[in-house]
Amino acid sequence: MVIITLQRDKCIGCNYCAELDPEHFRMSKKDGKSNLLHSVDKKGFHTVRVPHDFVFEQVEIAANACPVRIIKVSKI
Ligand code: SF4
Repeated sequence: MVIITLQRDKCIGCNYCAELDPEHFRMSKKDGKSNLLHSVDKKGFHTVRVPHDFVFEQVEIAANACPVRIIKVSKI
């Protein structure tokens, strides 16, 4: 299981995550920030649990590319 979290309020809309991992991130046409697909918002932390471990590396690439470091990914 992979857990991805996006602290969406702090997104600066650079588009890196959506380019590097379009399966999980998509830029919003409304406010220009990244959306973590299928996530649940809890007090600004958008979280999704993905049952496939193989997605970890791709999400990690996006997380490392984020200039404001608001994407967290962990494997449990
Ligand atoms: S890489 Fe970070 S700052 Fe850039 S769009 Fe994605 S979440 Fe926002």
